[in-house]
Order: sequence, then C-alpha cells, then structure tokens
Amino acid sequence: MAVKIVFASSNLHKIDEIKALLPEDFELLSSAEVGFTEDVEETGKTFEDNAALKANALFDACGMFCFSDDSGLEVEALKKAPGVRSARYAGEPADTAKNNALLLENLKDKPNRKARFVTVICLRMPHKTFFFEGFIEGEIALAPRGSNGFGYDPLFIPKGSDKTFAEMDSDTKNSMSHRLNALVKMLPFLAFLHG
Ligand code: IMP
Repeated sequence: MAVKIVFASSNLHKIDEIKALLPEDFELLSSAEVGFTEDVEETGKTFEDNAALKANALFDACGMFCFSDDSGLEVEALKKAPGVRSARYAGEPADTAKNNALLLENLKDKPNRKARFVTVICLRMPHKTFFFEGFIEGEIALAPRGSNGFGYDPLFIPKGSDKTFAEMDSDTKNSMSHRLNALVKMLPFLAFLHG
C-alpha cells in the first residue's frame, strides 16, 4: 500500500514537480488536501528553523509523514544576505523588483559576486525530524536578464552557464535547482524507510 506523505505547500507547480520524482509507493498530498490552510509565519533565523516551523505545524495538524521546504539566496560579499529574508529583502510587503534592485545596489562596489541558492527540506515523522540541504552555486549578474521564473532568477547565473535562470526554460532550471538537489537527497532516505 502507498505511504501517504504531505508536502507543506499548495503551490501546484512545486507539487507536480515533486510527484514526478517520488517513488511510486509514495502518495503525495498537498497541505490543502489534508485540510491544513494555516499560513505559518516564517520567524526563524535559519532555513532549518523555518522549514521545521512549517513541517511541525503541518504534522501537529494531520499526524502524517510531512515535509516542507524553505529556500533563499546567499550572497558571499553580503555575509550570506538576503538569506532567510530573501522574499522580503527590501521590506514589507514582499516585492521582487525592489528586492532585485536592492541586491544590485548593495553589490555595486563589490567585485565578488559569488552567490548560491539554498533549499532546506524538513521531513517530519512521529518523534523524528530530518533535514536535507540542496544548493546551486553561481554569481549575480550586473543587471537583470530574462523574463522566466520568479524572485532573483533574472539576476542569478548558475556556474557553468552564461544565462541567468530567467533566461532558461523551466525544465532546464528545475533540472539543476537547489530544490531538486535537496529533494534528490531525501529520495533514497524515503526508499529506505519504506523498505
Ligand atoms: P521559498 O522558501 O521557496 O518561498 O523562497 C523564499 C524566497 O527566496 C523567494 O520569495 C525568492 O525571493 C527566493 N527564491 C527561492 N528560490 C528561488 C528560485 O529558484 N529563484 C529565484 N528566487 C528564489
């Protein structure tokens, strides 16, 4: 029988992407499908904290195997900012254009433009919590380029590419993304659990 596992998101795009990767003996449910609609506040200081806040709230509500993800951009010359504040780097309410403009402004005099996207997945089970971390290394472009994707995609050039994420089609981006890299670390673990 398939093991049900709940993902702390209602983002259908993310859910479809994960469904395609999960072993057949797992059935992926969205938080909405188990009746969880609470918007958990991300008040943690680290990606781990925030991922755990979301996975724990969901687990407390439904009691099933759950996982959540939390992501962001870390820029070396900015001491890992925007980090957990990636969505609201330029303040409330979250505004992508302002975030990107502030990032370029803060990097204006800095020759080092190295950056990485990070995703932490928190997998929550009864009495146990596990974390899986995924990265993609790259650098910040001098100006935004491309119109695909979201967030900092127009500014992020992954290592080995001359295109920003926003200049790539979604399949190309997703095949190398920090989210995929974290998920790929969790998959063998799930397979092991299922025996
Ligand atoms: P979340 O935890 O996946 O919601 O990501 C938080 C914030 O990090 C987003 O609002 C974006 O600003 C940034 N971010 C995370 N992943 C990506 C990505 O793949 N491309 C661009 N920005 C991202």
